[in-house]
Amino acid sequence: MRYTGLMDGLEVEKIINELPPVPSKKDMDLITRAYNFALKAHHGQTRFSGEPYFIHVFETAKNLARYGMDAETIAAGLLHDILEDTNVTDKEFENEFGKEILTLVKGVTKLGHVKFRGLTRHVESLRKFLMAIAQDYRVLMIKLADRLHNLHTLNHVRADKQKRIALESIEVYAPLADRLGIGRLKGELEDAAFPYAYPSEYEMVSNVLKEREDRSKNALKHVYTDLKKELEKTGVRVKKIDYRIKHLYSLWKKLQKYENNIEKIYDIVALRVIVESVEECYAVLGVIHSLWKPLPARIKDYIALPKLNGYQSIHTTIFTGEGDIAEIQIRTEEMHGRAEFGIASHHSYKERQKKAQDEKFQWMEAFKKLEKVGSTPDDFLSHLKTDFFNDRIFTFTPQGDVIDLPKDSTPIDFAYAIHSDIGTKASSARVNGNMVSLDSTLHSSDIVEIITRKDGVPKRKWLTFVKTTMAKKHIKAYLNTQKGKEIAIREIPKKLR
Ligand code: MN
Repeated sequence: MRYTGLMDGLEVEKIINELPPVPSKKDMDLITRAYNFALKAHHGQTRFSGEPYFIHVFETAKNLARYGMDAETIAAGLLHDILEDTNVTDKEFENEFGKEILTLVKGVTKLGHVKFRGLTRHVESLRKFLMAIAQDYRVLMIKLADRLHNLHTLNHVRADKQKRIALESIEVYAPLADRLGIGRLKGELEDAAFPYAYPSEYEMVSNVLKEREDRSKNALKHVYTDLKKELEKTGVRVKKIDYRIKHLYSLWKKLQKYENNIEKIYDIVALRVIVESVEECYAVLGVIHSLWKPLPARIKDYIALPKLNGYQSIHTTIFTGEGDIAEIQIRTEEMHGRAEFGIASHHSYKERQKKAQDEKFQWMEAFKKLEKVGSTPDDFLSHLKTDFFNDRIFTFTPQGDVIDLPKDSTPIDFAYAIHSDIGTKASSARVNGNMVSLDSTLHSSDIVEIITRKDGVPKRKWLTFVKTTMAKKHIKAYLNTQKGKEIAIREIPKKLR
């Protein structure tokens, strides 16, 4: 039975239609029940815009459906403001929707008040925030979907508040979406926040894009036709060739890197070739390079060496032969799904959780470990700044395991990332077969071998060059135990005197 206060354009079908082709009856029932429950519970409430409050939870749930989340998460999206803003009690909620959805909503509610006015002052909030989402990433997804709708309705908010929410979205929420590997959501959050965070820059970049988009598209038209023809001859199974236009905010970031010289940016519009298998990705690359000359040093193979967030694709930049330069991205359908939707693109929730634990969320694991070691807010902040938001590098053990580290890490950081014992006993290191000093800087794709000594101990001077909080923590902990001994030794002779 449907609640009678139904509003035009907000039919539950609008959410259900975003789901995979045939959602199960069970899923549809759950979403419909949550929908009716929320509609009733928020009845009569309005947002600052004067619109019915229900619109907000409806759009949040629709965002979650769009990002391929499971029915439980979508239901939790519909219900995410109920415990806080209505008279419904925990008990009533649990009776109606069970423990799993209650836990999700409570997770989101707990995060509700966290505001980040500059990282330093709110370390403790952020720490709580990350702890909560490390338990179940779906809480973060709900929070991000909620934030996305809030950004889309930001024009109703006071100007100073607009700016704060927009900056916070760019500095905290978008990097989190990126960390989940959901490139599209990261782009949507940044682009929605951009005009409020940096109004004049937004204006400038939109104009630049408007101007360049057509020219870039035209340049790619010939490439598209020629490539399509050539690929048909080879028998490569092409699923799709299309354009992708760069997100505004990321275009602005890139412009800053290139002294605002738009001519240096080749991927404003990029051609995207989606094929069936990895072998075919490389076959397509071969075909492209036989047709057009590639720019040297611009071929990036993220299939062999994926980015930390799991992104895989081959990028190459070519001279189109008509005075233009263009980027082409090649990937399989599965890689494409993952780049856009992150872990949500894996079919079942179980699979996703497993995947999450396996590889994607090394950062969450590192974070939990840090909590166990017991860290002060200062430790936490420095971990956040250096290990979490900064650029990362990929290094390898001689066995081929990937160890991901913050930029400028050293062999000692590497050693502690493998195991605290290896860090403690490290005596020398070999990088790509050559002996290096323990304070040398590692680079992506370095193969690092740590040589340990049985009676090895951490050195104080290591603290001057290690980058990871993990390494610092362990070295300091060791030095502290030694300090106790030094004092003890000094004190004994005193008493004897
Ligand atoms: Mn909300």
